[in-house]
Amino acid sequence: MRRTVYTADHEAFRETLRSFIDAEVVPHFEEWYANGIVPKDFYLKLGELGVFGIEVPEEFGGAGENSFKYSAILQEETARAGVTFGGSSVHVDLCLPYLMKYCTDEQKKRWLPGFVDGTNMFAIAMTEPGTGSDLAGMKTTAKLSEDGTHYVLNGSKTFITGGVNADRVIVCARTAPATPEDRRHGISLFVVDTSLGGYAVGRKLDKIGLRTSDTAELSFTDVKVPVEDLLGEENKGFGYLGQNLPQERLTIAVGSYAQAAAAIRFAQAYTQDRNIFGKPVASFQNTKFELAACKAKLDAMESNVDRGLELHDAGELTAADAASLKLFCTEAASDVIDRCLQLHGGYGYINEYPIARLYADNRVNRIYGGTSEVLKSIIAKNMGL
Ligand SMILES: Cc1cc2nc3c(=O)[nH]c(=O)nc-3n(C[C@H](O)[C@H](O)[C@H](O)COP(=O)(O)OP(=O)(O)OC[C@H]3O[C@@H](n4cnc5c(N)ncnc54)[C@H](O)[C@@H]3O)c2cc1C
Repeated sequence: MRRTVYTADHEAFRETLRSFIDAEVVPHFEEWYANGIVPKDFYLKLGELGVFGIEVPEEFGGAGENSFKYSAILQEETARAGVTFGGSSVHVDLCLPYLMKYCTDEQKKRWLPGFVDGTNMFAIAMTEPGTGSDLAGMKTTAKLSEDGTHYVLNGSKTFITGGVNADRVIVCARTAPATPEDRRHGISLFVVDTSLGGYAVGRKLDKIGLRTSDTAELSFTDVKVPVEDLLGEENKGFGYLGQNLPQERLTIAVGSYAQAAAAIRFAQAYTQDRNIFGKPVASFQNTKFELAACKAKLDAMESNVDRGLELHDAGELTAADAASLKLFCTEAASDVIDRCLQLHGGYGYINEYPIARLYADNRVNRIYGGTSEVLKSIIAKNMGL
């Protein structure tokens, strides 16, 4: 189906990005993959290209665009090329909305110019070893010092994307106990400088996919976080998380759709090239039917994603909409990618084939940003169930 969601400006950005990926990413990707991390200076190149500043106001060095669709194009183009940029999506798609909505002017002046040029990379730390889906159960604490100049942060986080490369991490911590009426009360957000004493990066976790993404454990031992680095109001953090999760879920939905599109392209090219029983695999009726069914599913994902992008740019994407979008797209993409891998036979299981990496990279989409089960709970609640 013809897409109507992108303007000529969006498409021009796509072209720039595609050339950039070919020149600056593809030649190095094997090395990044083997090292399990994107070199930090690559983020300076993304900064120079303007990727981090698209939605940042011009006074802080950005382009001042009011459209999430550029981020969607970034998801589409990385998936198309079979590459990933490590923690950069978290930096822009997850962290920026918090900074734009809850920073004071003074904080924006301090943090946004570096955010835009890639010298100040951000990550977000919600999850803890004992607390993933149930965020209200978090144990990390931040206690205001007696002289009121700083908070003392103690605790640990895990699964933090970009955790090795980050310069600043938005850390969620308890500043007050939960109340009997409201388990979510008492959580605050801090923009923590990763060079502070007592802040430590633990293991970089060994994952089955997203190998270039530095997913790490973090620990905080009496870290003195200046009061100037509290984000928004004390104890209101849980509400902030709720407001920003729809964009995170839309990002993952777009990424899943883009991975499914890439998988179909990889499978089509592979099956046209591979000959067995004296003819191309693509000539078997089963192959045609499989790819046709995948394409129909992809079209449904695309309509869903495009509607989500329009609603989000209009400020109308609800939490339940985003849950539904992510649930559908991640589950559908998993099915498409699995079928496309099957069409590759044994080669689909070998990492040097992009479909194999895509299969592993895609799997986490049904887990992070809210598991499929958590999303079903949100949708059901919205239905009045
Ligand atoms: C590669 C990767 C990157 C990540 N990046 C980040 C990051 O940058 N920052 C960050 O803060 N976190 C990050 N996460 C953490 C991620 O968001 C959590 O893993 C996710 O929220 C699930 O939490 P959990 O792993 O503790 O699983 P659990 O919450 O322990 O869930 C275990 C199982 O129980 C199910 N379950 C949970 N609640 C319910 C329920 N109410 N009803 C039915 N079933 C339920 C779940 O669906 C799941 O199947 C990342 C995770 C991964 C794997």
